[in-house]
Amino acid sequence: METSDLRRQALTLLKKFYGYDSFRPGQYEVIEALAGGRDTVVLMPTGGGKSLCYQLPALLMPGCAVVVSPLIALMEDQTAALVANGIPAAAIHSGRDEADNRNAVDAAIQGKIKLLYVSPERLLSDLDLWVGRLPISLFAVDEAHCISQWGHDFRPVYTQLAVLKQRFPQVPVMALTATADRLTRDDITAQLGMRDPLRWTSSFNRPNLSIRVVQGATKKQRVDTVRALVRKYPNDSGIVYTLSRKGAEEMSDALSLLGIRTTVYHAGMDSAARARAQRSFTNGDVQAVCATVAFGMGIDKSNIRWVVHNNLPGNIESYYQEIDRAGRDGLPAETVLFYSYQDVIMRRNFIEESGRPLVATEKLEQMQRFAESDICRRRILLSYFGEVMDHDCGNCDVCLDPPSRFDGTVLAQKAGSAIIRTGQQVGIMTLTDILRGSARAEIRQKGFDHIKTYGAGRDISTAEWNAYIAQMIQLGLFEVAYEESNHLRVTPYGMRAIRGEVKVELSTFSPYAKGAVKAKKKPQPVNINPVEQLFEQLKTVRKQLAAATSAPAYVIFSDATLLDMARRRPSTMDEFLQVQGVSERKAVRFGKKFIGAIRKFEGLSATMPQGTTYKETLILHNAGVPLGEMAQIKGVTVDTIRSHIARLIDEDMISTFGNYITRAEYEAVTSAIAVGGAEAEKELRERYPQATINLAKSIQAYYQRNKV
Ligand code: ADP
Ligand code: ZN
Repeated sequence: METSDLRRQALTLLKKFYGYDSFRPGQYEVIEALAGGRDTVVLMPTGGGKSLCYQLPALLMPGCAVVVSPLIALMEDQTAALVANGIPAAAIHSGRDEADNRNAVDAAIQGKIKLLYVSPERLLSDLDLWVGRLPISLFAVDEAHCISQWGHDFRPVYTQLAVLKQRFPQVPVMALTATADRLTRDDITAQLGMRDPLRWTSSFNRPNLSIRVVQGATKKQRVDTVRALVRKYPNDSGIVYTLSRKGAEEMSDALSLLGIRTTVYHAGMDSAARARAQRSFTNGDVQAVCATVAFGMGIDKSNIRWVVHNNLPGNIESYYQEIDRAGRDGLPAETVLFYSYQDVIMRRNFIEESGRPLVATEKLEQMQRFAESDICRRRILLSYFGEVMDHDCGNCDVCLDPPSRFDGTVLAQKAGSAIIRTGQQVGIMTLTDILRGSARAEIRQKGFDHIKTYGAGRDISTAEWNAYIAQMIQLGLFEVAYEESNHLRVTPYGMRAIRGEVKVELSTFSPYAKGAVKAKKKPQPVNINPVEQLFEQLKTVRKQLAAATSAPAYVIFSDATLLDMARRRPSTMDEFLQVQGVSERKAVRFGKKFIGAIRKFEGLSATMPQGTTYKETLILHNAGVPLGEMAQIKGVTVDTIRSHIARLIDEDMISTFGNYITRAEYEAVTSAIAVGGAEAEKELRERYPQATINLAKSIQAYYQRNKV
């Protein structure tokens, strides 16, 4: 196919099935490559529009696309979204009834399915059963980073996907991921056996997200931060990520006490409770969700205004994915990471128990370097994903409030000699207690109150000591003996500092309050802006429709689509179809409700105007909506619809009429006309409505005009 033809065809499908006018950067390039039979690797951040990259080729190419996806919930969401847009899709996995699975396979073999989602386990185990019998157009491997040991979410079963290229060498493969460092990317290509793939990497930069790392905050300060964020964005919501289920519950309780609407989400809840929590979050019923990392996959909510990490994430990929959920609407959003060295220790202990200590440790160290960095944090993040940024971002705590440095040699000497005098038998907490001269029983029992540096650092707060000791560790003065109760050891380099042979530079600890989130002074009047007002009303309509159809809200329309709707305020079906994200199928199914709400908002009558609306009827006709339903959707009589159809026939826009007139009606009218005369005309009028007569005339004229 000619390139320009392919592009035109792709754009037509994009409008019809997704309601969008243009591709995002990279989408068409990879669609073209895949449709041309070339393997492709797509790296786009979450929300970047990866799904379209394989869904559109699936529509363009004959046969059925097989999509490998590791998460049942994601498969279900994707198929629901496709079906809602009128694209035949199905999922096969262990969570479904086996009879349903079999039906889906049969339909796919018969060519009735354009996209089939399969779990990797199932795909591999059923290769000889039915996979070989499918008319496969392409393979899409979603969450492709799972294939690599270097990735943060390695799944051994993914490595067996290499068999796809061996078994189906002619079928192009697309690998997609939102998260992969350089090693992982190379691994994906190699493991899947791709040949000279086209690689697309979108920018991962999200300039509207502010990035802040706060060291040494107390529990209360953390809760205060969240409260300030909620106050600042009273109509929107945010996420607090915690490491443990207990942490999530504690945070949620603390926030509830302050009158904040919250919910928790963690792996210990049953799936119904989790679905409830997720729904109340996507619907905007809660202001904050306190969640463990399990939360957020596949969430399409554009007005998440803030993300707080109460604990240090285990790696940069996870951290990035989690903050990346904020501010999808492109408006400013805030992220705060609370960092304490204790989290590093806790994570280390987890890693010891996990299977792959080397990779995980390396990733944790990178995360730690990010948290402790005193250069622009966004530069570190982007360089991690292989993207070069040649300037400081101006929207992270380091850029906004650059750390100042001071000569910390004396502090290092105090800390170091205290460690030595305890026989290197203390961790950070106890060391801080000694330096601060704590009267804790354990300190006395062990005789630590007799050592020379006991109380030598009284003038510095616990939080500061913690931060400085963390820096000293990072500088290589001390080491943490993870295998020995996390005790600190002085390194040879640390010894030289103690002896005064080297100078130690530390960056000044910025006390918590500095740069903390400030709530707006005056409470903002709620929804002053008419677009926002309408947007809220449209969300209510969506919520009602979601309840009525028991579909997740975002399967109806995304926030981005509702926002575009609120801006354009379509009052007719034609205008409604211009809204970004309104496919033909959804226009027909949901148009009336939304247009009605918009018309009401504008002070118009809720029903759509008649008369010039015959083009809307064309949309309904093309979508295969039956006559009675058309009339109902538009709030007009069937005769009005018939008159629209007649006009469309006159303009040669329609060539199938069976839904609007029976053969008998048509023949009765045409033979009466053939007879001619006033009498025949009169009789005809008595038997049929004028609209039917006109329709028959139009059809007859159509046949004569087009010689059929
Ligand atoms: P990802 O899989 O990369 O996280 P999705 O495929 O779910 O992202 O897309 C995120 C959102 O962007 C969806 O609401 C999708 O409909 C929308 N989207 C995708 N492509 C386009 C486009 N070309 N124009 C407008 N919106 C788009
Ligand atoms: Zn910066």
